Amino acid sequence: MSETRTPPALGAPSRSRSEALGAGRYAPVVTAEDWMDLALDEARAALDHDDVPIGAIVVAPGGGVVARRHNEREKSGDPTAHAEVLALRDAAAQGMDGWRLEGHTLVATLEPCPMCAGAALLARVDTVVFAAADPKAGALGSLYNFAADPRLRHEMTLISGVRAEESASLLQDFFRQQRSAGSLLD
Ligand code: ZN
Repeated sequence: MSETRTPPALGAPSRSRSEALGAGRYAPVVTAEDWMDLALDEARAALDHDDVPIGAIVVAPGGGVVARRHNEREKSGDPTAHAEVLALRDAAAQGMDGWRLEGHTLVATLEPCPMCAGAALLARVDTVVFAAADPKAGALGSLYNFAADPRLRHEMTLISGVRAEESASLLQDFFRQQRSAGSLLD
């Protein structure tokens, strides 16, 4: 089962959070839970276009949220338009180091698939935080573990299980609705 570590206080304590969340100037220390709140908001936005509700954000080394995206596979007709890949692309596009996202954290509402975990590795992301595990497609501990494979050239720190139940119920509700919509058409 997924190993859950106590989410540490990550990132800068105040400025980036107030910028990202519009919070007060002296916002409390940011935690992985706070980041997952943003990622879950993104996941819900995917429902507007009938995409599977998965969201992802990228946090810079200083703690600022530099990208937030959701799954747009149906919307854009693109099999690679997963939330994590879109967020990594956005983050790299505004970063100061080309395609490299060293020191960055990817926060996703579902355990990334092989493509997304691979993209995080290629971008040299430092840490991946995810909510629910994905036993059918997860590549950070479920089917594979790209974060700690000695054959790969980069390792990533994993924090899993952050708001896992919220993410799982969002997905379950979505698939339940899809099934009932499907049965209406039969
Ligand atoms: Zn993916």
